Amino acid sequence: MEVSRRRFLSIGPAGVLGGSALGFDLTESIKVKQRLRIEGATLSHSLCPYCAVGCSLIAYTRKAANGRTELLQIEGDPDSPVNEGTLCPKGATSLQLAVSGRRVAQPLYRAPGAAEWTKVSWEFTLDRLARNIKASRDATFVTQDAEGNVVNRCEGIAFAGGAAFSSEEGYLATKLMRGLGLVHLEQQARV
Ligand code: SF4
Repeated sequence: MEVSRRRFLSIGPAGVLGGSALGFDLTESIKVKQRLRIEGATLSHSLCPYCAVGCSLIAYTRKAANGRTELLQIEGDPDSPVNEGTLCPKGATSLQLAVSGRRVAQPLYRAPGAAEWTKVSWEFTLDRLARNIKASRDATFVTQDAEGNVVNRCEGIAFAGGAAFSSEEGYLATKLMRGLGLVHLEQQARV
């Protein structure tokens, strides 16, 4: 259908929105726009795990037909005095931490000399970690420094905690690492 400029202006905004005067019906697409993706969702408060700023997040979830909880949206919490609803680009992508199709959901292992990564179980991974920690600790444990002082420390392993650690997790991790004799402890929040 040909619509002249004069005819287009005479139809006016109502006619354009309805669309029928132009030969097509927009009412369906307008309805779709009005259906909110987070309609009826449960709102939960959380924290961005990426850095020490500690921006507050709101997560929207809904029970799916199969009984699983679906994460629909994560955004900055406007009530937070820290970020007042804003997020930096890193925090704004935090939804993808949970739902990205490219997320690695299982440990991968590349054997010495191998070119490919293979999927392994968590049991294999934890066992391997424990063995490697023990081997590194045994190989690098220092009982005395250059002046003969007893130090009993492990200089061959470093530990980096995550910014999303709670106080209790931080305490537990520090206790464990100090118990192993580690002296190089760092926190991702300071990086
Ligand atoms: S990474 Fe960005 S959004 Fe997350 S806490 Fe830090 S500043 Fe805030």
